[in-house]
Amino acid sequence: MSIQSVNPFNGEIIKTYEPHSSELIEQKILRAHESFLSWKDESFEVRARHMKKAAEVLRNRKRDLAELIALEMGKPVKAGESEIEKCALVCEYYAENAKKFLTPEEIKTDAAKSYVTFNPLGVILAIMPWNFPFWQTFRFLAPGLMAGNCGVLKHASNVPGCALAIEDVLIEAGFPDHVFQTLLAGSDAIERIIENPLIKAVTLTGSTEAGKHVAAKAGSLIKKTVLELGGSDPYLVLEDADIELAAAVCAESRLINSGQSCIAAKRFIVVEKVAEDFISRFREKLASCTVGNPLLTDTQLGPLARKDLRDQLHEQVQRSIDQGAECILGGKIEDGPHAFYPPTLLVNVRKGMPAHDEELFGPVAAVIIAMDEEDAIAIANDTSFGLGSAVFTTDIQRGEHIAANKLNAGCAFVNSLVRSTPELPFGGISESGYGRELGSWGIKEFVNIKTVYIS
Ligand code: NAP
Repeated sequence: MSIQSVNPFNGEIIKTYEPHSSELIEQKILRAHESFLSWKDESFEVRARHMKKAAEVLRNRKRDLAELIALEMGKPVKAGESEIEKCALVCEYYAENAKKFLTPEEIKTDAAKSYVTFNPLGVILAIMPWNFPFWQTFRFLAPGLMAGNCGVLKHASNVPGCALAIEDVLIEAGFPDHVFQTLLAGSDAIERIIENPLIKAVTLTGSTEAGKHVAAKAGSLIKKTVLELGGSDPYLVLEDADIELAAAVCAESRLINSGQSCIAAKRFIVVEKVAEDFISRFREKLASCTVGNPLLTDTQLGPLARKDLRDQLHEQVQRSIDQGAECILGGKIEDGPHAFYPPTLLVNVRKGMPAHDEELFGPVAAVIIAMDEEDAIAIANDTSFGLGSAVFTTDIQRGEHIAANKLNAGCAFVNSLVRSTPELPFGGISESGYGRELGSWGIKEFVNIKTVYIS
């Protein structure tokens, strides 16, 4: 089947690509392996030089790349430019820190000398989603290549132009041939790619369903996986919260990337005493965002990435309403070839409804009322996911205690929206996945932590 990129703003086909044949995929993996044999012995200084150049190329091409993202998956250009800037930052971060993170560590034992080295593994398969088509890839690519690994990318089928542009950026940055290549392939090609003995490990960012398939296959071959999967992040608004701040931050977080972010706030758990005030301010802020053509600089909310994903979201909203949720904003689709979904606010959401139990990947906020702090924490943790979380309170000690000790998630923020940054580890627990990206933790996921013992 051919791979097509379709503009979700107007439904027009941008370009059709022939997928790579299985023979070509095998050749590319072999070339990546051959490249690895010399790349693994390059100094950190040489690798860092290429990585810093990649940051420069990204910045020089920022507007073009943001427009490509906007055309293929509907992200407003301003947000696309921020995404590219963040990729440049992660390249620079690992260019500057990889050597420090991977310097052998001496450990005192009964040996004359004993220490730990961090050796690269080989060719890593990266399976990536469309929602941050550059950032998700660079989040793996920068530490992966700095550690001495090579990579092959199987990107989401709706962003083939972005997938090829990533390879192009690295070529322009002067990386040796085949250190990082794009494979144009559908998800039906994945099992065979994982079976290739030259593929040493797999990283996947995507839905929990995809994660289960890939982990099962890789596990059957004892190949390591890192899984960055879906989420339904709870944001707790306690009775002593600054409600104006909470409403503003919650709206901003829910609308990140037109609602299509794994760490967008999805469930708003509000203590009864302040619920009415919060809901009215929150509704106003959700309603005031500028919806429009993603190629225009002042657009805040573009179309969703694909029409089928928009329809799936609408069906989750409808089922929640059928089960008793009340829709007080949005919830209606306008006819046309586009994939727009309006900012939508559901209240009276309860356990058992899709808006409570499932991931809603679009600009739909679900408000759940809690009796008090204890009830709010229990509701927050009553989920199959565990990616991000946040709590709003003017009592910082109280917020910190809840964040550090009570919320079951890969990260917990106080009075702030959840975001990733190169220095801090990022990842989830439960059905949100395992393993960590970013920081010193991320670069150590795909290395052989080797003990050297000299008697
Ligand atoms: P998706 O449908 O799971 O696709 C992600 C990638 O996996 C794509 O390259 C896709 O290829 C591939 N894939 C899908 N099903 C597969 C299977 N059965 N076997 C092997 N590969 C498979 O997810 P998406 O719609 O692109 O992205 C949205 C999801 O990603 C959301 O759930 C979101 O929360 C999650 N996400 C998580 C993070 C995180 O860091 N935790 C970050 C971003 C997104 P095709 O496109 O060819 O099907």
